[in-house]
Amino acid sequence: MSLYRDEAVVLRTAKLGEADRIITLLTRGHGKIRAVAKGVRRIKSRFGARLEPFMRVDVLIAEGRSLDVVSQAESVAAYGAAIATDYAAYEAANVIVETADKLVNTEHEQTVRQYRLVIGALNALAKHAHAPRAIGDSYVMRALALAGWTPRLTTCVVCGQREGAYLSIAAGGVMCEADHTTDARRIPPLALRQFAALVDGDWTVLDAEPLDTVAEQLVEDWGEYYLERPIRSLRLIDS
Ligand SMILES: [Zn+2]
Repeated sequence: MSLYRDEAVVLRTAKLGEADRIITLLTRGHGKIRAVAKGVRRIKSRFGARLEPFMRVDVLIAEGRSLDVVSQAESVAAYGAAIATDYAAYEAANVIVETADKLVNTEHEQTVRQYRLVIGALNALAKHAHAPRAIGDSYVMRALALAGWTPRLTTCVVCGQREGAYLSIAAGGVMCEADHTTDARRIPPLALRQFAALVDGDWTVLDAEPLDTVAEQLVEDWGEYYLERPIRSLRLIDS
């Protein structure tokens, strides 16, 4: 059996049998992997709480025929405790891990930049660096941008000349008064400015005032359109 070591963040866990769990990990060098953690649900598990969602771990993985197996897990950073005590941070962390899980599809693909983005966002949540919702929404937009879905927000996507006050998600950006299509919606200036700041990670703009609900809705719609399925954790916050 071959072994490999990597740094990873726990995205999701699912029960397996009586005492085991399948752990979905986003690793720095091996993409997204699913591996069995044996005995992890026993009270005296040797893994302790290190394989819970949002935990950043150094793992030793044994490649199995069907599923890989977690052989060792050492804590690198325990964001979990700081995140779990703040409900808004917890909700945003769920948005982050769900989006990462949906976005990174191919197992074993190189995902170093996506990995760094997840770590950066969870770290910011744990430190209460900014409003949790803004951290989660900015993560969603930046992760999608990294995957190639960057909105064009400076000039109209049709004429490329004028500024746009309308946004068409399907067309991938803003449209001007003259060119806007029927699916494009008019976006208030503040919401558009905040939406652009979420994509750029511009915290000067984002820390200045709470996120406009229109900007929040745009993130949810942009995510659903390009991931081709809703980000359920975002819907939950809004419901
Ligand atoms: Zn135009």
